[in-house]
Amino acid sequence: MSEQVRVRFAPSPTGHLHVGGARTALFNWLFAKHHGGSFVLRIEDTDTARSTREAEAAVLEDLAWLGLDWDEGPDVGGDYGPYRQSERLEIYREHVEILLAEGKAFRCYCTDDELAAKRKVALASGRAPHYDGTCRNLTEAERRAREAEGRAPSVRLLGPARDVVVDDLVRGRVTFAKDMVGDFVIMRSNGRPTYNFAVVVDDALMRVTHVIRAEEHLPNTMRQLLVYEALGFAPPSFAHVSLIVDKDRSKLSKRRGAVSVAEFREQGYLPDALVNYLALLGWSPLDGEEFRSRESLIEEFDLARVSSSPAAFDEDKLKWLNARRIREEPIGSLVRAARPFLSARGMSEPDDARIGRMLELVRGGVTTLAELPDAIAFFFDDGLMFETEAERVLADGAARSVLEALRNAMEEDGFSLTSEGFKDVLRDLAESLGLGNRRVFMAVRAALTGRTHGPPIGDVAALLGRERVLTRLSAVLSR
Ligand code: GLU
Repeated sequence: MSEQVRVRFAPSPTGHLHVGGARTALFNWLFAKHHGGSFVLRIEDTDTARSTREAEAAVLEDLAWLGLDWDEGPDVGGDYGPYRQSERLEIYREHVEILLAEGKAFRCYCTDDELAAKRKVALASGRAPHYDGTCRNLTEAERRAREAEGRAPSVRLLGPARDVVVDDLVRGRVTFAKDMVGDFVIMRSNGRPTYNFAVVVDDALMRVTHVIRAEEHLPNTMRQLLVYEALGFAPPSFAHVSLIVDKDRSKLSKRRGAVSVAEFREQGYLPDALVNYLALLGWSPLDGEEFRSRESLIEEFDLARVSSSPAAFDEDKLKWLNARRIREEPIGSLVRAARPFLSARGMSEPDDARIGRMLELVRGGVTTLAELPDAIAFFFDDGLMFETEAERVLADGAARSVLEALRNAMEEDGFSLTSEGFKDVLRDLAESLGLGNRRVFMAVRAALTGRTHGPPIGDVAALLGRERVLTRLSAVLSR
């Protein structure tokens, strides 16, 4: 690609980022990174009734958590700002004036009620409900008369004279028939631009080279191409990415479960796993390997491999990727990611290395970070609870002799507790007591962890330490 790639993510800040928006942001980010280009964040907040600064902050937080850093945006600035549409109203007005002066747009004084009535008549007589051209050729005097009536004008762009064609990078050639739109509004009577107008002015002035966004915007693209043409701007390339659907092929909805990035974060997904998963929603790597690092996603990402059919949201795959990511995460970073989940359960062990050793022992058995507190609870004295199955093991008479013999061995001077050494002691005990290894290991596991399954008992004992192991043995023996 010879030109410098510039892409943008342009959320309307009305709440937390949903998976669909996150996937759009990710595809743009991957494309920018792959081509060494720029990723621009623009806030589309002209709908003042729905946009709030809190919602904008939430979107920025979600993007940052996903690790999708932007090169230009409302908080970091850049050469093509401002990056909030609400701060660009003057720019839109100037461009509307140009179109009015060139006769490519006109002021329309029809009221909403009048327009609605005309639409009804058109539909009833089987005509397309387009604007009927009432104000298209008003004389200066007619305009003044309407203004004297107190009518505030909107501004309309002249509708297309011929069909509009776009070669979409995902969907191929798309032709919009010219009768699909009439003269459409580019600026409302309150002085606010419409989305289709603002987005073109911004994309053109911000030198956006590729517009990668959701399929649902495809119908807007026709209007946007007409605005590009009227303003004399060269349009960017377009790539419309397919809808994300439920397993049953219906539009992804809240009923299914989590749909926002914040919810997935709270449920204990790692950002790298979610990024990995979102990348596979509509894109597939050449080699078919689905578990991928961020770096390899950047290296491989290619719009040519983005599918034009809907992408089905598959929570099991996300879980699988997350479980594997948890297993492979560098331990220090896993500890950092797990901390909020541990704190929420009052687990405040200050020693990162100790927490890290616990997590190393249990991470193979969890799917989300939210499962980690339960998985390591038995390491903490106030988290030790005896499951019924463990109680059953401890009720067996042989268990008592095992625990007593173990306590004696560990009380000997010079006993040093290591993971391997501990297992040797248990094997020796089994032999001297004439019991099977399994029974011995099980009794000790039940006494030390309150469970019958878990990480290797030697590692568990070594991490608990001699004092704590002896205390736990005594507690069970003195019942
Ligand atoms: N603000 C629009 C949205 O959130 C952006 C659409 C676009 O990328 O052009 O859907």
